[in-house]
Amino acid sequence: MPTGIVGEFLDLKAETDADILAMQCGDFYEFFADDAELVADELDLTVSQKSSHGSSYPMAGVPLSELTPYVKALVERGYRVAVADQYETEDGHAREITRVVTPGTLLETADDDARYLAAIVREGDDADGPYGLALADVTTGRFLVTEVDDEGDLRAELYRFDPAEVLPGPRVRNDDRLLGAVREDLSGSVSVFDAEAFAPGRAKHAVREQFGRETADSVGIDSELALRAAGAVLGYVEETGAGVLASITRLTAYGDGDHVAVDATTQRNLELTETMRGDADGSLFETVDHTVTAAGGRLLREWITRPRRDREELNRRLDAVEALASAALARDRLRETLGDAYDLERLAARATSGSAGARELLSVRDSLALVPALADAVSGTALADSPVAAVLERIDRERAATLHDELADALAEDPPKTKTQGGLLRVGYDGELDELIARHEKANEWLDRLAEREKRQYGLSHVTVDRNKTDGYYIQVGKSAADGVPEHYREIKTLKNSKRFVTDELEEREREVLRLEEARGELEYELFEELRERVAADAELLQDVGRAVAEIDALASLATHAAGNDWTRPELADERRLDVEAGRHPVVERTTDFVPNDLRLDGERGFLIVTGPNMSGKSTYMRQAALIQLLAQAGSFVPARTATVGLVDGIYTRVGALDELAQGRSTFMVEMQELSNILHSATADSIVILDEVGRGTATYDGISIAWAATEYLHNEVRARTLFATHYHELTTLADHLPRVENVHVAVDKRDGEVTFLRTVRDGPTNRSYGVHVADLAGVPAPVVSRAGTVLDRLREEKAIEAKGGARGGGGERGGFTGTADGDTKQVVFDLSSGSFSESDDAESTAAGAPGSGGGRNGATPGSASDGASGSAGTAETAGAAETAESAETDRFDPETRAVIEELADVDVAETAPVELLSRVQEWQERLDENR
Ligand code: ADP
Repeated sequence: MPTGIVGEFLDLKAETDADILAMQCGDFYEFFADDAELVADELDLTVSQKSSHGSSYPMAGVPLSELTPYVKALVERGYRVAVADQYETEDGHAREITRVVTPGTLLETADDDARYLAAIVREGDDADGPYGLALADVTTGRFLVTEVDDEGDLRAELYRFDPAEVLPGPRVRNDDRLLGAVREDLSGSVSVFDAEAFAPGRAKHAVREQFGRETADSVGIDSELALRAAGAVLGYVEETGAGVLASITRLTAYGDGDHVAVDATTQRNLELTETMRGDADGSLFETVDHTVTAAGGRLLREWITRPRRDREELNRRLDAVEALASAALARDRLRETLGDAYDLERLAARATSGSAGARELLSVRDSLALVPALADAVSGTALADSPVAAVLERIDRERAATLHDELADALAEDPPKTKTQGGLLRVGYDGELDELIARHEKANEWLDRLAEREKRQYGLSHVTVDRNKTDGYYIQVGKSAADGVPEHYREIKTLKNSKRFVTDELEEREREVLRLEEARGELEYELFEELRERVAADAELLQDVGRAVAEIDALASLATHAAGNDWTRPELADERRLDVEAGRHPVVERTTDFVPNDLRLDGERGFLIVTGPNMSGKSTYMRQAALIQLLAQAGSFVPARTATVGLVDGIYTRVGALDELAQGRSTFMVEMQELSNILHSATADSIVILDEVGRGTATYDGISIAWAATEYLHNEVRARTLFATHYHELTTLADHLPRVENVHVAVDKRDGEVTFLRTVRDGPTNRSYGVHVADLAGVPAPVVSRAGTVLDRLREEKAIEAKGGARGGGGERGGFTGTADGDTKQVVFDLSSGSFSESDDAESTAAGAPGSGGGRNGATPGSASDGASGSAGTAETAGAAETAESAETDRFDPETRAVIEELADVDVAETAPVELLSRVQEWQERLDENR
């Protein structure tokens, strides 16, 4: 065990669970051992070796005054850094840890984004929740507290706020799966904190201490879980951050009733703040963000990620955006003025936490000066009657002016960065200070002139007057002249070429100068502290002004984008509808010659099956619908000629496979979990986007699930839905389900070449373009040609088992033949011989495994267009409810029959999707064994 300084370091390190310790050693902070290596690695410091009792340890250090930027850089990389300071004791000095700087409590950040510290709490071991969640941004003083219903909502909130640090409560911290998922979702780190701090009694006390009993009670945190999370956050900030706790001033308790549910998957799928690849560039936020202040950017981001359901609020924003969009000149002037504003929310937090310096108070002054300028930019323009004016009216302008004037009177124009060097305050601000300064300067002047005087009076050459730490003030005389100094000179030092002297008078003056210097510094610092406290006392005013600046900036940003891109004001409707004329995708339109498309979803037409070849634009069309919905509920204009938007309670999306495999989950399982979540959560007031369902499994499973999900969404959930599928078979559902309609993205096919038209038309695509895509992709001609032939034969002779249900009877429906009288004709394509046989031969099915299928409407999908590709279950079999009892099932062995009967008995509407999935899997296994 090392002793000495390294031993002390290691002892202190053992006391803290921080990742890195910085220990003060005189004028330096030192890192030793592993910490030295790590810091040197991260920050390019030089490592030296420190010998201690025969061993040698790596050591790296930074000067005292330079610690902050190093700590900041380390914390921004996700490390928790403990700082141990040195203090004097009777027998020398000792050291102790004075603070731990963590990602969630870092006050000095240069980054404009909000920086949240989150705590999550749950009661039992049930991952389903509910959860208490608290989020604090110590840089702006914001503190949000809520309870969410389940894990999905929890993750949605976490994803939205992207906290820099998460504190899991006692139950959650052992839930490796949940923590793993949270780590996946977030860029921040997870820290374990004292379980005691999450206890209800202590939490309640902490919240009341922080915000005052009245606020704490009136804000109404009525959930104990939420309260416990809040208490933990406060406890953590108190324990780690010196002085940071004071900055948390704004408590908001929120429920989920006000916001549109947008789960983490959907936020990602719709690329709200980053693209699927993880770039900010190309996200919706980045596209519409023209804000000129950091706070405006933060607010706009929040509007986009947390759309609202409150129509009044949305119309208020829309009124403002409309006014700003048409008043271009006033808008430009406003934005120019806003551009000079500093981040008042953050400055307020720094004033309350005591870390603001004179330059920051100057920034407060300058930002407050903008209040009248903003008012000027609005009055007398078209904005005067708009909600923009109302936003400014919320500011107490008199108070703002008073504080501004006080700061203007007090602060020097160009104060130094440090608070202790003097020069912070203006002459005339304080009589006593001015007098001290005058005397100090006079005394200095006497010293400045001393050398000159001495030269003249005593005929000395080479005389200088200076001061240093050890000698204080002295008169230095060159060697040659040193012998001629007057008697009253007392020699204190001999140097190589000169001698140093003092005199009684000089010593007296020195004492005076030092006294004045100290008095001046102390008084000035005192006055400055008072001034900062004065600003802290008005923190609420600063928050108000900051909030107004942010809001106008965000609104002006939306207006700028709307005006520049020909967006239109959506009409917010009460009915359940989304009616868009010439709509565009807000992001894709920026980089493409975009073809606008209409969209109608309403009571009669609530479910659109979108078909079309790969790359034709299905996905874009559906996302565009979701984004128009979302933008309208963010209070923004939308990319369309006209849009009538019924407000939704949730936007749900499920989009084809990502790199979920990397997360150790099977893609199909993820797909089904997402589907399950949608089927459970969506309501008749939601909008649902499904971009391929069932692709991750065998064709027949896939079709069956897609089919059943469609019925469930249509019949039970009744959400407005857009469903893109490559299962052409699903298009027949439009015949069975009254609110289901087909649309397709048109392509032009001439001379075997496919041209994408990007136009969405009613009705299903009339054929699969897979073979043509194969052709375009350069698959050898003989293969393409043979595939074409096989496809044609499949189409002509393909099996059909649709029975009943079809409106208007049989006929050709997109390659899917039905018969009017409900008879089932069974045709089997034998892969080995390449020939077709009539249904009687079905028992000798080549591939053997019968496809599952079936829905309550009795129509069973036939072979998929890629049926010839050899995917599992290539043979056609019966499977619909009605056929289960028919004599045809006799053709099967008992086990297969049992499966078919069970299948027929399933009530799709009553069975949870996940259960359906596991049953399908079970059937498959039984059939497989039977093969
Ligand atoms: P799909 O989902 O059918 O495979 P996508 O929606 O991914 O097709 O679109 C394929 C490509 O077509 C994308 O690169 C997209 O930018 C472009 N695109 C889609 N819709 C349009 C449109 N309306 N106008 C112009 N380009 C479009």
